[in-house]
Amino acid sequence: MSLPPTQIGAPLSEIDTPALIIDLDAFERNLDTMATAVGKLGVRLRPHAKTHKSPIIAAKQIARGAVGMCCQKVAEAEILVAGGVSDVLVSNEVVGLRKLERLASLARHARISVCVDNSIVLEQLALAAERAGSQIEVLVEVDVGAGRCGVRPGPAAAGLARQAAGSRFLSFGGLQAYHGSAQHLRTPEERRAAIASAANATMETLRVLKEAGFQCRTIGGAGTGTFELEGASGVWNELQAGSYIFMDADYAKNVADGTRNANLFEHALFVIATVMSTPSGERAVIDAGHKALSNDSGFPVVLGRPDLRYHRPSDEHGLLDFDSASSRLAIGDKVTLIPGHCDPTVNLYDWYVGVRGFNKPDARVEALWPIAARGAVT
Ligand code: PLP
Ligand code: MN
Repeated sequence: MSLPPTQIGAPLSEIDTPALIIDLDAFERNLDTMATAVGKLGVRLRPHAKTHKSPIIAAKQIARGAVGMCCQKVAEAEILVAGGVSDVLVSNEVVGLRKLERLASLARHARISVCVDNSIVLEQLALAAERAGSQIEVLVEVDVGAGRCGVRPGPAAAGLARQAAGSRFLSFGGLQAYHGSAQHLRTPEERRAAIASAANATMETLRVLKEAGFQCRTIGGAGTGTFELEGASGVWNELQAGSYIFMDADYAKNVADGTRNANLFEHALFVIATVMSTPSGERAVIDAGHKALSNDSGFPVVLGRPDLRYHRPSDEHGLLDFDSASSRLAIGDKVTLIPGHCDPTVNLYDWYVGVRGFNKPDARVEALWPIAARGAVT
């Protein structure tokens, strides 16, 4: 782990770059906005820690009413539990005996639930829980339109529910019905249609489960792009949004529906970079390439500088094009970037630098938080 890029109390100019910045004021407003929104919708919030990978941020979400956390990896769950989170859903399929053993021993220390879409894995999970002497809750994942993991809507879920309920070491908790590919559909109409179709698939599955005698404590799903739709549907009761705390340049491309969705939240995560070379006067090279930014969902946007365009990243470099000579940058100039995709960008850093009064002249570093679960890929 590297040393933090600055110290508490430092001004922005004294932060080593590239650095991952949280605008604490915007971040806290995002936390509050989501807490209010789910309160109005009357559903539970179990935010996704894949975004922040930090027990410190998880604690802030739980303090505002979140019932626990989601994560995608057993290693992330281990770090959350070690950091004090007592209720974790691995909202993903866990495959392999060693991982299942780790999950089962973790369940001795916290309330653990996990998604399952396969009978053999479910059998191995039950055996691992038996050996560890623990209890694990199972959510059967249904493919409600994303075309990734999950059983087909309908009877397949009842078979897995029966199997889970039949083990003394497992319990059947309900359904995981997350429509990942709906989150970044650009128009409100597209998102509404996708979630309406996911709701039908989920309701059909619930009907079959009810006939087979199964109740669902949890119907989980939703992300930042669609959570109000799932929340208002009467179908889902536990929402898993993650990116809302930070927002990214990709989410900013979602067209909001009146007061709904993407624009409810503010950008709160930034990368500060430094101009390290200006070879021709035509371009500026900054110290933020693939090691500093995840470009899988598009390039970052330069905050407050629409005249600058990021392009051609390589491992340690990014290029900035500018519109006119008056936009030219000099060596040592700093730029603030809004990452294209927040979650994998966070995964590149050891430290969050929390800044108070980010857009004010007297901005100061108030917090240095380790990104404890970065690189926790197993
Ligand atoms: N739930 C699951 C299962 C996910 O995989 C994700 C993100 O990939 C989310 C929720 C959160 O989505 P977002 O970060 O878009 O809010
Ligand atoms: Mn993401």
